[in-house]
Parts: sequence; C-alpha cells; structure tokens
Amino acid sequence: MRRGRATPSPRRPGGRAASRRAPRGTLGRGRAGAMLTSRTFLKRTRAGAVVKVVREHYLRDDIPCGADACPLCPVRPDQPLGLEARPSGAASGLCPGPHYLLPDTNLLLHQIDILEDPVIKNVIVLQTVLQEVRSRSAPVYKRIRDVIGNPEKHFYSFTNEHHRETYIEQEQGESSNDRNDRAIRVAVKWYSEHLKKIQNEENEDIQVIFLTNDRNNKEKALEEGITAYTCEEYIKSLIDNPDLVDRLACVSDEGKEIESGKIIFPEHVPLSKLQQGIKSGIYLQGTYRASRDNYLEATVWVHGDAEENKEIIIQGLKHLNRAVHEDTVAVELLAKDEWVAPSSVVLQDDGQNEDDIEMEEKKENILKISVNKNMLRPTGKVVGIIKRNWRPFCGMLSKSHIKEARRHLFTPADRRIPRIRIETRQADKLEGQRIIVAIDGWPRNSRYPNGHFVKNLGSAGDKETETEVLLLEHDVPHQPFSQNVLSFLPKMPWSITEKDMKYREDLRHLYVCSVDPPGCTDIDDALHCREIGNGNLEVGVHIADVSHFIRPGNALDDESAKRGTTVYLCEKRIDMVPELLSSNLCSLRSNVDRLAFSCIWEMNQKAEILNTRFTKSIINSKASLTYAEAQMRIDSAAMNDDITVSLRGLNKLAKILKKKRIDNGALMLSSPEVRFHMDSETHDPIDLQTKELKETNSMVEEFMLLANVSVAQKIYDEFPEFALLRKHPAPPPSNYDILVKAAKSKNLEIKTDSAKALAESLDKAESPDFPYLNTLLRILTTRCMMQAVYFCSGMDSDFHHYGLASPIYTHFTSPIRRYADIIVHRLLAVAIGADSTYPELTDKHKLADLSKNLNYRHKMAQYAQRASVAFHTQLFFKTKGVVNEDAYILFVRRNAVVVLIPKYGLEGTVFFEEKDKPTPKLDYNSEVPSLTVEGTTLCVFDKVKVNITLDASNIQHQKIRMELVEPKILASGVPAHLSTEMSSYNEPEKKKKKLQQSNSKVE
Ligand SMILES: [Zn+2]
Repeated sequence: MRRGRATPSPRRPGGRAASRRAPRGTLGRGRAGAMLTSRTFLKRTRAGAVVKVVREHYLRDDIPCGADACPLCPVRPDQPLGLEARPSGAASGLCPGPHYLLPDTNLLLHQIDILEDPVIKNVIVLQTVLQEVRSRSAPVYKRIRDVIGNPEKHFYSFTNEHHRETYIEQEQGESSNDRNDRAIRVAVKWYSEHLKKIQNEENEDIQVIFLTNDRNNKEKALEEGITAYTCEEYIKSLIDNPDLVDRLACVSDEGKEIESGKIIFPEHVPLSKLQQGIKSGIYLQGTYRASRDNYLEATVWVHGDAEENKEIIIQGLKHLNRAVHEDTVAVELLAKDEWVAPSSVVLQDDGQNEDDIEMEEKKENILKISVNKNMLRPTGKVVGIIKRNWRPFCGMLSKSHIKEARRHLFTPADRRIPRIRIETRQADKLEGQRIIVAIDGWPRNSRYPNGHFVKNLGSAGDKETETEVLLLEHDVPHQPFSQNVLSFLPKMPWSITEKDMKYREDLRHLYVCSVDPPGCTDIDDALHCREIGNGNLEVGVHIADVSHFIRPGNALDDESAKRGTTVYLCEKRIDMVPELLSSNLCSLRSNVDRLAFSCIWEMNQKAEILNTRFTKSIINSKASLTYAEAQMRIDSAAMNDDITVSLRGLNKLAKILKKKRIDNGALMLSSPEVRFHMDSETHDPIDLQTKELKETNSMVEEFMLLANVSVAQKIYDEFPEFALLRKHPAPPPSNYDILVKAAKSKNLEIKTDSAKALAESLDKAESPDFPYLNTLLRILTTRCMMQAVYFCSGMDSDFHHYGLASPIYTHFTSPIRRYADIIVHRLLAVAIGADSTYPELTDKHKLADLSKNLNYRHKMAQYAQRASVAFHTQLFFKTKGVVNEDAYILFVRRNAVVVLIPKYGLEGTVFFEEKDKPTPKLDYNSEVPSLTVEGTTLCVFDKVKVNITLDASNIQHQKIRMELVEPKILASGVPAHLSTEMSSYNEPEKKKKKLQQSNSKVE
C-alpha cells in the first residue's frame, strides 16, 4: 500500500491549539472528535450485478487548515508545514494583500505548468480536486503530488471531504460534477471565514482566492461572496512576473472558434459515437504514426485481434484531421477507388504558408502523381480522437517575421510533431534556445495546434541543455528521486542484523573479487573459484541482493519498475535506484560486508557442471579490480596469492565455456563501439576510442551468461507460467540477403540456414590481403539481427535465444541497473524458500505488462545513449576542424552509400543528390551491390577516404558532413559530398533499424 498524506489519522489535538479552539458544533460525534456518517451508493460489479455499498465515512474536526502557526487548528508535528503565515508569493495588482490560492479541478488539470512555476506558492489543494484529477489524468496527478511534496512550494492538501464543516452530501437531482463544484465553493467559504479569525503578525487578514476558468462556477462563487478570478486574470495581475503569461494554457473558447477564420478541418465525431462505430465496424481504432519525411502523410496501426497490425494510410491535411503522432484515433476507410500509395516524396513543412490552405492543397496533389496501381494500400481518414497522447515537446522557436508579434510558431525537434503556435512576449530571449512547449488544443479553424511555453532548457548546442533534451525526447525518467521514494531507503548507518542473516549463508571467508571497467561504482557482480577436495572446482557468481532492499509495491519499487534500467550517457549516469543503493549498500565493493544472491556450481576441470545451487549470502569482496588489473595478475608469474589463483581458475574455465558456446552455434559478432575520453574537468570529449576487449572482459561475461542460464532454468522449472525470461528470435531468412550478396561480391559464401552454419561460415570468411573484411562481415551480420526481448513464460511458447544459441535465458546478474533482474531475484528467492511471494509476482498478465515497459525502456535507453554518442561526436569534430580519414563502404543504396570509419566507429549515410543541384548520373546494381556515380563505381566493402566536418547551419539539426576524397568523382558541378545526420534524437525511426542491427551484444 502506498503511504498517503491526504487522510490524517485520528489524533488528539495539541494542547496549546486546543485551548484556543473555536467552540464546536453540536453534531453527534464519535471518539476523539471523529463523527461517523455513512454513504450509500449503488455499484455495478464486474459480473453485471448491482450491489448496494455502504461506506463508512468519518468526519473530523481535527483537520488543520494548513496555515503555519494557526492558533485555531491542531498542531501536527508529523506533517510538513504547509501555507506560510506570511505568504511569499508574487505581488498581484488584483489582490495586493496576503493571500492563498485555491484552484478548482479543471484549472489544476489544464494549468499545471503555471502551478509548477516557482513564482506560485501557498496553494490549497482540496481533496475533492485531487480525487477528480487522479481519475482524469494520472500524469497531472503525479505532478501535483510532487508539487505538494516540495516544501519550497508551500502547497497544502486539505482533506475537505473528511472535515466536519466542509463535507457535503450530494443533493437529489444534483450531478456529481455539480456536487463537487459546490463542495469546492463550500471549502473556499470555510477558509475565508476561518482565516478571518486568525490574522497574521502584521494584523492583516489573509484572503483566499478561488481560481476557476469556468464562467458559471465563477459567477456562483461571486454571488456567494467568494473572491474568484480566472487563471488568466490572476496571472496577468502579477506585477513582477509578466513572462508567466507565456505559460498559460490557451483553453479554446468554443464560441470564439466559429466566429474567426475559415474552418479547415472536419468536426471530430464525439467519443460515444466513435465507440459505437468501432463496435459495429464502421470505424477502426488504431495508433496514429506521423511520417517523419512527409508532413502530409501518416499511417494508423489498427488495434484488435481480427486484423492484427493492419496498416492504413492517411494522406492530406483534412484526412489527417488534427491527429498528432501517437494519438489513439478512429479512422474510416475510404472507397477503394480513393486508395493511395505511400509517397516517396520528402515534404517538410516550412511553416511559410501558415494560412494559405490553397497552397497546401497544391502540395497534396504532388503526392498523387505517378502512382503505381500495385502500390495502392488501404487508405482512410481520421474521424475522431479516442485518446490524445500529447506530452511536452522539445524544440525551438521560429520567430515570426512580423515586428512586435506575440504569436510565433514553435518547431519541435521531432519532425513527426506538427509545429505549434504559441503566444509569448519573450521571443527575442527565446530565439536560439531549446524550449519546451505543451499543446493545449487544436481548433478546427487553425492550421496548427495552439500551445504554451513551458520551460527554457538553455542554449542550443550547450552540453547540459542537449543532454536534457535527449533525455526528454527519449522519455528517460531522470528527475531526482522524490522524498516519498527516498523514504523507503534503509536508515543510515546501515549494518547487517541477525534477522538479515536468517536465510543466508556466510561466505565472507571466500576469496571473492569483482572485475569491472575503471571507475565503476555500481558493482553488481563478484566471483570466486577454488579447488575442493575431490579435484573439482567450486565457482561462485555473487550478485548484489537488491531485492532485499527494494520491497514489492512500495514507492521505491514502483519508481524502479517505471525507470526499468539505468541509462549510461557519455558523461552521465541516470540511476534506476537511488545512489545510496546503487553506489553503496548494494554495490559489492571490496572489504565491506555485503548481501548477495549467489549461484554456486561444482564443476570438473572440463567446465562441466556437476551441481548447481542458489543461496542468499553475505560476502566480503577481497578486491575490486579493473579488467586490466585482473589481466595483469593472471599474466604475472610472480603473483600466486589467493585472489590471483582464483582468477586464473576462472579464466581457464571461461575459455572452455566460451569454446563450448561457440561450438554450439553462439554468434560472435562485432560492432565498433565508441568510447569517449572525457577531460575530467570540462567534460569535453578529447579523444574517441573504439573499445578494446581484454580476455578478462570475456571471462566475466562467460560466467554471467552461465549464471543467467542456470537461473532461467531454475525459475522456469519452479514457475512454468510466471518466469520472466529473455528471448532472441531468429531473423527471417530474407534479413540475410544483404549479407549473402555482399559476401558473394568478394567470392565468399555465407550460410544462413542455422546459427551454427552462420557462425562457421563467418569464421571461414577470410581474405588474406584484406584482414578487416571479416570484421566488416560481422558488423553486417549484426544488422540482420532481431532485438532481444523480455517476456513472461506463461504468455509465449518460443523461448529460444538465437544469438547465444541457448534454449532458455534470463537476466539475473545486474539488479542494480536492470529491473528485470529484480523480478528474477524475487522469483528465485521464492523458489528456494528465501523470501515470500506476493500476488503480482505470479500474475502472468502483470508480468507481460511489465515486460512491455522494460522492453520499451531498454530501447529508449539505447537510443538515448546513441544520441549522446552522436552529440559528443559532433563536439569532437567541432574542435577538430576538417579531418581526413579512411572509411569502408558498408551498404550501397540507390542514391547513396553508407560508410564506416573504423577509427571512430562512426557511420554515415551518404547522398549523391542535393537540393537545387543537377542530379548526377547514378547507376545502381543490386546483385553486385554497387553504385556508379558519373562513371566511378563504388562497391560494398571498398576502401575510400573522406573529409569529415561539422555542419552547424541548422542549429536544431547539426550534421556531420563528409566529402569523398578518394576516389574523386569527376562531374560537372556536382560536389560528391556525403552527409550524415548525427542529431539522432530526431531520427528514432532510422535509428531503430540501425540499433536493432548494430547491437552486437545480442545478450
Ligand atoms: Zn487553522
């Protein structure tokens, strides 16, 4: 259960305050000032029956108003101070005196950006409002809870529904909406009376200001003598903060919309009709995906079991009908004679013809010319929106050319998102800055949606700003952990207690050590190996016991599950769990006692497993080594201490294990993985280095793989329906076409009928005068692979891990940085009787949902990491000037080649066509992958030379630009330049393919 702060428990009022209490009413009351009332209502059960529910509802008079040092209310030492006695908010021309704000539900839902602004303080959030917000928008609910939890904001959540004087019953014929509006006004009224009695130190009355944008509600409030303003009125009255107006959401006024301007879009069908239509099959429900290259085109992926993943094309502004990327929409199919083909035209919306709809229609016609009849696909139009999926968007302001203009267009970094019209007075200040904008609505007469400015992230190109942008754009949760989450951490100083020892083996005497990259502070795993009497070896993999600290269902667990993974950027790590755990209590550092989950094998000298057991343990690592240090010990004949002997044993076994895996058909692929050397002071990249692998890297990896396989088998045996596993599907045969053809062009044969055949033919694919060819072939092979994913064993039948050639696999060895491992630890602990279970752990639908989130988070983490590398690559080349490097052609396309620069692990797509320039003569041959440009033929795997520079002409989308130096393409006026877009957070689609493919560690 979550800990809530909203409902205070019955508690005797504090003495001082009680003596000065106002006289109580005469209503009957129970013990300690609590009065019981009951509410009866009818509720429909899942099975359809109607039951009468009587809910006991306690009313109290010991709920404080929240004003600091209010003499009338009980002191509650367990509750943080809420409202300031001398409100320190911004000065308002409308209400110059001290005041608290009290917003209604809609205001909170729509103007949360305003309420979050540091200027706004001392706000009363009613329980009624909070409950309504919770049921209407989970994200806004979370945001307001965070604001209430922030002591600097002085927000106070008042439990009006349990307060004897503010609770009201629903009246006959009154809708619950109206009842709640009335409850809010009653609470405002109560506050104004209550505050009149207390006066602050300056003997001024503190006023309560009711904020509502609802015209009716405001009128009623004024009639009742309540001071009420709309959000806009109040914000505009803030004397020293004129810029805050920018953050106001522009809530569309239905009436206004019709009057002004021409209607561009058809009306949206209301939700109830949409649902009927979907049921009867007139409409189809799906996810709207805007095209990145063509703003007049989108596809809708239809949900539902009947026609799984059916794709419908939508073309043209009116048919797109104001849907935004990722919205859930309803579409109507067009008649067959109106079907279109996906266009190959690239159309970027330049925002020039904002209100020139005829111009747009001309553009739409371009899409329809010269379409091959065979290419026609089901085509439809958006008739309504089922669920908006708007989030705050990063991007830049495109300042209006009109002088003194307040309305400007905002260009999101993600090209699939339309431009957004915002109003701001700070356009000069915001130019060149990365900003965040939220969409408020999209009226029928507006070419673009309306939105408002949310936040300035900083100058474009600035390192911190760009890091923030890429985290936001990849949906990486990266806010500091909330107080609520942190409250579930162990209290310091922490030590191991008797109780902790109960189900644990004491393994502190073993010569356990860890081997990691230099500077690693989150040490998940440690190992040991020793001879046991019978000539066999005992090998232990000891994993941080994170599930000991993170208990199911609390806020810490929920947050870790949501984050799913730690995200590693070039210069920053975004932890999945708070630092106290990741870098201290869970980290298996040397010479301290740590809790672990151990997997221990007995093996013979041939690395055959004779026995496997699992136990929770306590270890004391004897050394935290880097790969290089471990390697040095193994290689140094003079060293024969216990740690070194243990490492040599591990290394010897690992080599045998690796050989066995390869013989089994496991793939050994490679990808040039780039690491930056950072200047430790400025954090600027000073050198790019492709990662070098030592024998000890592979030693640790071998044992982690083995532990993961052993644990996978164990949890599957114990919980055939509920094991969280990881699989890697075999790619469809056609994926290998590109590899097979490329190899054939060098007279090499690659077999792809099985992983084993593939691995063997890759081993044989050598060319004596071209040693790098084998690496290139392995890189190409990685591009043919599928993505490995988590799944629940009860929901799937295919468990195979293709890349590892293992029939079963899971993740057990990195619980500090992967949430899947925490679940696997819990399952294993239950399996061996070391911990108790809980309902969600053995619910396959819950596990399937969890897997979905984890797969998403892992994918986004990879993209974010890529984007970070891309950004640092740009920074690197910015300082380098023009660089001349060797490169290899990896792929050949119709109008481009893709090259790889091994030195930097840098890859670029290279186009030979340029806007406004004559097209060079291009001749593409798909059989021998090659492209002939103006008589010069470029083949796959050819070695070329390129010039690399940074093109910063478009500040939002910087590019690494390359020029072909060798071979020189001789053509009249055609610059043979290659361009590679490196601002990859704009390119998730393209990158998706790249990533799927380049992830050499398919594990
Ligand atoms: Zn009070």
